[in-house]
Amino acid sequence: MNVLLLAIDTLRADHLGCYGYGKPTSPALDRFARQGVRAARFMAPGIPTHPSFTTLVTGQHPIRHGIVAQGSKQQLSHRTQTLAQLFLNAGYYTAAFDNLPYHKEHFARGYEMVVDSSRRRGCGLMVMCEEINTRVRQFLKHRAADREPFFGFVHYWDPHTPYWAPPRYRGLFYEGDPCDPAKHSLEALYEHPLGARWKDTWLKTVLKDLGYAEDATLTDADFVSALYDQEIRHIDDGLESVFETLDATGLADETLVLVLGDHGECLVEHGIQFDHHGLYDENLHVPLLARLPGALPAGRTVDALVRHLDVLPTLCEACGIAPPEPLDGKSAWGLFTGSRPGEVLAERLISEECSWQMKWSLRDADHHFILARQEDWYGSPMRELYDVKADPLLTKNVAEARPETVRELERDLEGWIADRCKELNLPGDPLPAHGITMLDPKARRKARKREGARA
Ligand SMILES: [Zn+2]
Repeated sequence: MNVLLLAIDTLRADHLGCYGYGKPTSPALDRFARQGVRAARFMAPGIPTHPSFTTLVTGQHPIRHGIVAQGSKQQLSHRTQTLAQLFLNAGYYTAAFDNLPYHKEHFARGYEMVVDSSRRRGCGLMVMCEEINTRVRQFLKHRAADREPFFGFVHYWDPHTPYWAPPRYRGLFYEGDPCDPAKHSLEALYEHPLGARWKDTWLKTVLKDLGYAEDATLTDADFVSALYDQEIRHIDDGLESVFETLDATGLADETLVLVLGDHGECLVEHGIQFDHHGLYDENLHVPLLARLPGALPAGRTVDALVRHLDVLPTLCEACGIAPPEPLDGKSAWGLFTGSRPGEVLAERLISEECSWQMKWSLRDADHHFILARQEDWYGSPMRELYDVKADPLLTKNVAEARPETVRELERDLEGWIADRCKELNLPGDPLPAHGITMLDPKARRKARKREGARA
């Protein structure tokens, strides 16, 4: 049996048809979901890309593997076994189609072959699924002619900013004038240092391509959200071409295929526009689909909480590979096959971010609690509490109204962090020691000025 792991950067779950979206963004993934298993609650313990993918390939929480932020200097311990190393040692041919090895050495560990199609471009974010799939299809055809099992990992970037799908997708999911002066929904974006940068680069190019005058300004956030959905349709078509190759080569019946996201994206929610910071469901809840004809029941939905750190032990069980120690995750294979249907892998989710902002979150059946270690760009409260049953979109912070619950959850979260620090010989919470990585000094000065103005 082979394993093919297809990871789509920045793909939030709720913009796919198979996760309830009303627009036709994902016909191929919806079909794929009907052929296999869909994890309804797949959540990220660490965002964004580097923490999440490190958790995926180690089965460890970010507090254990140490990659708590994007672009940090922190390196993964050489003692930590990665997914590709495990498969390599088990006799699989291992190949990655990814540009993360260019940023972090551990993303290359265990691969006999790494293909980085983004090298043809100046910016790794700009690589398109068509360019990656040219190589992936060659690889699959080659593998089909060989009896040696393979482990393949493919990392697509299409739904990541700057969203600008090929011309055939433009116009999908939007009607109206993107520069309507009566609309002001992009003002928050232009206030943020990241958005201010996009205004003069990506969004200017978009308007230019559409034939707008040089001084035109986008005003409608719905237009940019539609660009995101267009990119989902774009990658969905790209995945369809991989699924077709699996069918045509006969690999489909003997290949466990996983499709997942590393983190999602806030489009306009919580005042965060078109980026993946903020420990909310738009960023934490991503798709996880698995297909293996004959082993995984078609159309099955797994409602239990599954996390990125559960993927490594799941694949180990599926392939009969002994999982490494220490691990924070548990195998979801019994949930997927139906052999252990009621199993609970985790009662709660603890997540962190330390790139644009420094925060922890704790999610249980009733609450979503966010604890900031440092004030964020938006001046959000240091403690946020949401009632997930009454307010599933996490729109109403009830921290002030429920101080007792806040105290209890904070005690739980701090206790968990303290226990991990003790176990890992860390002097204290690694986030403040690490520091945020993505807000540049100029923007930081501007942020301080804003803080001064608020005080
Ligand atoms: Zn990412």
